[in-house]
Amino acid sequence: MNPSSYSAHTLPNQHQPWYTYTPEQTLEILNSDAETGLSSNAVEQRQKHYGVNEIEEAAGRSSWEILLDQFKNIMLIMLIVVAVVSGVLDLMELRETAANEAARTGVPFKDTIAIMLIVVLNGILGYLQESRAEKALAALKRLSSPKVQVIRWGKRQEVDAPTLVPGDIILLEAGDQLAADGQLLEASNLRVRESALTGESQAVSKSPLNPGLATDTPVGDRRNMVFTGTEIIQGRGKVVVTNIGMETELGKIAQMLQGVESEPTPLQQRMSQLGNVLVTGSLILVAIVVIAGVVASGWDKFRDLIEISLSMAVAVVPEGLPAVITVTLALGTQRMVRQQALIRKLPAVETLGSVNVICSDKTGTLTQNKMVVQEVETAAGRFRVTGQGYAPSGEFFLAGQAIEPADYPELQSLLLGSTVCNDAHLGQGTEAGNPTLLHEDWQIIGDPTEGALLSLAGKAGLEQQSLKHEFPRLAEFPFSSERKRMSVVIRDSLAAIRSTQTSNFNHHQSPYILFTKGSPELVLELCYASQQGEETLPLSEAQRQQILQANEEMAGNGLRVLGFAYRPLTAFEDIESETAAERELVWLGLAGMLDAPRPEVREAVATCREAGIRPIMITGDHQITAQVIARDLGIAQTGDRTLTGRELELMSQEELEGQVGDVSVYARVSPEHKLRIVRALQKLGKFVAMTGDGVNDAPALKQADIGIAMGITGTDVSKEASDMVLLDDNFATIVAATQEGRVVYNNIRLFIKYILGSNVGEVITIAAAPLILGFSGVPLTPLQILWMNLVTDGLPALALAVEPADANIMRRLPFSPRESIFARGLGSYIIRIGIVFAIISISLMLWSYQHASETGNPESWKTMVFTSLCLAQMGHAIAVRSPSRLTIEMNPLSNPYLVGAVVLTTILQLMLIYVPPLRSFFGTQLLTGEQLLVCLGFSALMFIWVELEKVFFRLAKGLRK
Ligand code: ATP
Repeated sequence: MNPSSYSAHTLPNQHQPWYTYTPEQTLEILNSDAETGLSSNAVEQRQKHYGVNEIEEAAGRSSWEILLDQFKNIMLIMLIVVAVVSGVLDLMELRETAANEAARTGVPFKDTIAIMLIVVLNGILGYLQESRAEKALAALKRLSSPKVQVIRWGKRQEVDAPTLVPGDIILLEAGDQLAADGQLLEASNLRVRESALTGESQAVSKSPLNPGLATDTPVGDRRNMVFTGTEIIQGRGKVVVTNIGMETELGKIAQMLQGVESEPTPLQQRMSQLGNVLVTGSLILVAIVVIAGVVASGWDKFRDLIEISLSMAVAVVPEGLPAVITVTLALGTQRMVRQQALIRKLPAVETLGSVNVICSDKTGTLTQNKMVVQEVETAAGRFRVTGQGYAPSGEFFLAGQAIEPADYPELQSLLLGSTVCNDAHLGQGTEAGNPTLLHEDWQIIGDPTEGALLSLAGKAGLEQQSLKHEFPRLAEFPFSSERKRMSVVIRDSLAAIRSTQTSNFNHHQSPYILFTKGSPELVLELCYASQQGEETLPLSEAQRQQILQANEEMAGNGLRVLGFAYRPLTAFEDIESETAAERELVWLGLAGMLDAPRPEVREAVATCREAGIRPIMITGDHQITAQVIARDLGIAQTGDRTLTGRELELMSQEELEGQVGDVSVYARVSPEHKLRIVRALQKLGKFVAMTGDGVNDAPALKQADIGIAMGITGTDVSKEASDMVLLDDNFATIVAATQEGRVVYNNIRLFIKYILGSNVGEVITIAAAPLILGFSGVPLTPLQILWMNLVTDGLPALALAVEPADANIMRRLPFSPRESIFARGLGSYIIRIGIVFAIISISLMLWSYQHASETGNPESWKTMVFTSLCLAQMGHAIAVRSPSRLTIEMNPLSNPYLVGAVVLTTILQLMLIYVPPLRSFFGTQLLTGEQLLVCLGFSALMFIWVELEKVFFRLAKGLRK
């Protein structure tokens, strides 16, 4: 086949669109087989030919646009204005001194050049950061890229969506998101939501068609096709892939793929608002200084006033802050992904720390989701079953005696039902048939509940593959969390039954059988009789009670219990709808399986309690099973109230709001109940994280403040609706991520404290200088202020962003997500510290102004102010790490980055004074040793002040107690 002889999406024999063909024709053209799929060779060849199954996202902003966007920031615009005004001033000076070379001071236009340089640099940095962030998000998206169940080389397997090729056979089930376009080969109650493609939010039914559709059928009506990006809402199906990647309908529209979203976090939004406030504030301040100055001293000092204004404008803006916040959030997501929590929406990083309720599913999140059937109860009695893992080897015991399952007709029927009413697959590792294989080598594909049933049947010698051929499935009513049961209709053949010695159905005249398994209470309600030995006898009320009691006993041992029933059918037509089919059933028995709690969850629950977070279990399982496991894990205590889905249904939303405060276990709930529970909790002011895995969990995940999807068992739809994906499905991971969230938020507050305090100090110092010293020049030039805000504030702030978690971080109550970033004393701290800063630097200014002339360098007082402001910030950085612990009580090396940043920044600051080219560029003066020591002395006061504050607050706290 010459790949270039046909376009990538048209095969040589494909003369019409795929939907016009019958499934057989399509399979023939694609040279594939519905049962065995493609061979690995064919897959490899086609991958080479067709490439990766990926939709290149519609180009967002161009690089130019991203770059230009950086300059739309109001703070940068203000800096540009400052640069221009300062350039005009320099130009005027240049003109005035044109005749007098000697009168010129320093390099002309350096402030303008430097500020523009900073502006450009800031723009480039922002640009790099944004494009890097986009790449990182793309990588995250790949990490969460869907897996697809396929049949290749005759084997069912799970592959990554990008590896799909035309001709692949895909198996679909509710919750899957389609990763390729394909034609249906089989379908059972298949309903697909195609809103991503057609905009139509109603799900549409799909089924294979013979003959195919007319050529002019629009996309929305192609009932025999499924398309990339659409979602399976219900049922299951088998599909042959026809188009992949950019050749799919979605690819053709080159639609945006909903993926990881990079929306700004509330904090980032608040910070840009803060930017606006600061800019407006500084403009007002500048106006006041200029007007007051002109009124007091006339127009003579106008130029000095403008210079002071420029410095104040630069000083008030925390130029380094946005970059530090972005880096902190990015580092937070990285740390979380290392803990197996994948953040899909950036705001989750900072808001996770505020969670005060975690609503978790039970199965798989709190428990291991490795099921082993331990007990089976039929009319013959309660059987105990031995064995480990999913290995189909073990024994059946009845009343302590080993028995032969084939001797018990009811048991046989139950085991047959559990095998055919089952969509899981049980298999060994790669070395099938190797007798030395351990029980760990038995694996399942599919639902672990069903896997456990296959292993149970295997222990009695019932083998799935052969039964599948002997009892072909004609129809099914799939499992859903609302129905809590599943049924299949199979064709029976007496010969087949005999060959497996399961001839005990009392239905010898019935060519079809319906098998149902599911929640015991629900299945039992549908039964009118039970199988006892080889007979079918009506179910008495006493028997019903006995069965329900057995169910509760098993549940009381923490087992997950399923009930089994069947119905002989004389005609296939009987099964048109599930209500018509699932009635007048014959009860077979119960199977109880153990799903042990995850060992690490107990500790995680204890951590939650200490951290003021309430864990709540919301499960589809029986209330007693739920209670036993909840008690075992510490989620609930004996006697705690449990609400069931039924009770919930009878309550109004107001009544529910009255209850949610005390209930920690919800059992037998459906996904729509989850939505009501989240809403009720939120009404009480709770900040709720909620887990989910099914399609129908999506609304609750969206409603929750933090929606958490399961990485392993979760459906694509639930992942799409979530803020975070648990890569290991583990409850303990949520708690770890919450801790990270708290650390991130703490550190953000820490460096905001640090940076803004210094800004306030700078502004007051600059404004005070002309008042105290008269117009003897501006103490700090715009360039020096930029240096402080970006370098001497920026570097230590970055180090504070990685401050390790405080040991008590999970021993305090969560903070309200609605609190202002300046809450809990942060705002007053900034103002207080700003004033202390100003007092220190103004005192130094007075001293140095008086003594500067003694050194023969009258301008050196300005450099002393500049230096002591920078050095004072170093002391501040060290002391600010903890609000309560003294620096001597902390290990300085617990944040080595901070030590590094302080040392580096100090060296850089000294270089500005002692390296001649830098000195002339930054307009500093050489300081004598004595002057430097004075600077050090004054700046140490900052450190001492912050430490004394801690002592004072401790004493005050002690007195209050
Ligand atoms: P959680 O919501 O904590 O994950 P769960 O897995 O028990 O708990 P569902 O999957 O909604 O919740 O199951 C609800 C009930 O439906 C189960 O308790 C069981 O009785 C029944 N059930 C579960 N899986 C199947 C299945 N594959 N076939 C038939 N019935 C099932």
